[in-house]
Amino acid sequence: MLIDLDVLDCPICYEPLTIPTFQCDIGHVACKFCWPKLKRCPLCALPIGNKRCIAVESALERRIVPCRNSKLGCTKNVPYGRDSTHEKEYCRFSLCSCPEIDECKYTGSYKDLLFHYLTSHMLKPNCFFTFGESRNVRMNINDKVLVLVTLRKTLLFTVQCFRETNGVYVAVNCIAPLAPEIVEKFSYRISYSFNGETHSHEVAEMKRILGVSFQIPQEKNLMFVSNSFLSGEVLEMELCISEVESRMNI
Ligand SMILES: [Zn+2]
Ligand SMILES: [Zn+2]
Ligand SMILES: [Zn+2]
Ligand SMILES: [Zn+2]
Repeated sequence: MLIDLDVLDCPICYEPLTIPTFQCDIGHVACKFCWPKLKRCPLCALPIGNKRCIAVESALERRIVPCRNSKLGCTKNVPYGRDSTHEKEYCRFSLCSCPEIDECKYTGSYKDLLFHYLTSHMLKPNCFFTFGESRNVRMNINDKVLVLVTLRKTLLFTVQCFRETNGVYVAVNCIAPLAPEIVEKFSYRISYSFNGETHSHEVAEMKRILGVSFQIPQEKNLMFVSNSFLSGEVLEMELCISEVESRMNI
């Protein structure tokens, strides 16, 4: 059954209604964001109390709409007006952002990102890597992001440093949506040496991101270098990214 979607928008702010939805004495609705600001219904001037509109709420619960990437080819449906994890991270048509976010606003499919990067940005020396081979990564902690590429895959990989009071987190990510079927898994091993001691960190499944962000990641399965192991602003690291063997054929 198709319902005109406007019926499920708030008549005051025109944003999608979400649960809870409130109504005036004769049934005009207001969303949960507009409701606290109202004393009277803007449509009929009757008082708006805290009466919920159960009919609208149950319609909302059952309402599904095409994914917002349907124009790009997605055929999945998602709950209306709610943040869906499918749209946010798992949709394979989600747009990814170029990691040079200071100078570039490009967004596109994860498959087009490498071509964009190779044709639009100056390649840094040493940006190429080979799967399974350990390589040196030298990074200034204040550099926002280091982009790594391999010609085996049309994907971009990023290394980022996040400074905290006690030290620095180092995150290695692959830019792609989380849709499980589209990109094989990668693992990595990263280490740094200081005064002859080597500390290393292994991640069995590299995280995928839709674009770089400068917020300290919530997820802390990252290498942490405490201040006492830092000498100046430069981190000398060894990084090895590997392809995780797919078990599909076993
Ligand atoms: Zn509203
Ligand atoms: Zn009313
Ligand atoms: Zn989708
Ligand atoms: Zn770019």
